Amino acid sequence: MNDHPNAQCPCASTRFSLKGKALLRGFCHCTICQAFNQAGYADITIFRAKDVAKPDPALVELKSYRSPPVLQRGKCGHCHKPAIEYFHLFPMPELVIVPTANILDSDLIPEPSLHIFYDRRVEDVQDNLPKYNGYLSSQLAFGRRLVTALRSSDR
Ligand SMILES: [Zn+2]
Ligand SMILES: [Zn+2]
Repeated sequence: MNDHPNAQCPCASTRFSLKGKALLRGFCHCTICQAFNQAGYADITIFRAKDVAKPDPALVELKSYRSPPVLQRGKCGHCHKPAIEYFHLFPMPELVIVPTANILDSDLIPEPSLHIFYDRRVEDVQDNLPKYNGYLSSQLAFGRRLVTALRSSDR
């Protein structure tokens, strides 16, 4: 176990530690991600919450989306940039979503596996990854990969 912070927001005020392997990395082009990241899309990497030593809650401004709060998006209270997000949709285990750019240790960054909400894209992306459009197929494609990754990492 390693308690040395290996992830941080852009200003480095909000720091935290990733202690396990990532489950999945993908690109989300939804409008909420665009607004939250102030970018054309979000590059996100998902971890099990138990593999993350969370940052001090006093440092993070959390905003919940949907009720009950399935997804809480956290911005650094200092630079107001995306820091970390918490996702809990029972019966899945609690998950942590980290903007990939916040991961300092490149060994912890997996290859991306898909684009979702691609129909909302600001710009075309030239790569060979599968691209899913619309709410249902995006959620299903992401969910399926997540469940596969959770299963194969079950010990
Ligand atoms: Zn910051
Ligand atoms: Zn999104």
